[in-house]
Amino acid sequence: MSKCINNCGFFGGLETRNYCSKCFAELDINLRTEDELTEKYPVQTNTERCWDCNKKVGLTGLKCSCGYVFCSKHRFPENHKCRIDYKEIGRSQLIKNNPIITSEKLRKIE
Ligand SMILES: [Zn+2]
Ligand SMILES: [Zn+2]
Ligand SMILES: [Zn+2]
Repeated sequence: MSKCINNCGFFGGLETRNYCSKCFAELDINLRTEDELTEKYPVQTNTERCWDCNKKVGLTGLKCSCGYVFCSKHRFPENHKCRIDYKEIGRSQLIKNNPIITSEKLRKIE
């Protein structure tokens, strides 16, 4: 028996790829969601049409951060089922622009 390679303190096994059963179950869920994501979000091959309504947009199509091209009506994330979690991005940007760090930097300059 060896320790779980996830360092959780439990013991792992060969049949669970050196993870304990708990970590292996979590890993399994992660792998499954990844598969589901690629299934849910196929690659847009025809970028001359809106991904949402299939309207022909030609060169006037607008590409969203999620990677798909949309017509002017569906260009905004709230107008299509955008897979980009803007709330999540906003939160990480808040952490990046942490005001405490900024004030510390300013103090150093003084
Ligand atoms: Zn574990
Ligand atoms: Zn559209
Ligand atoms: Zn989008």
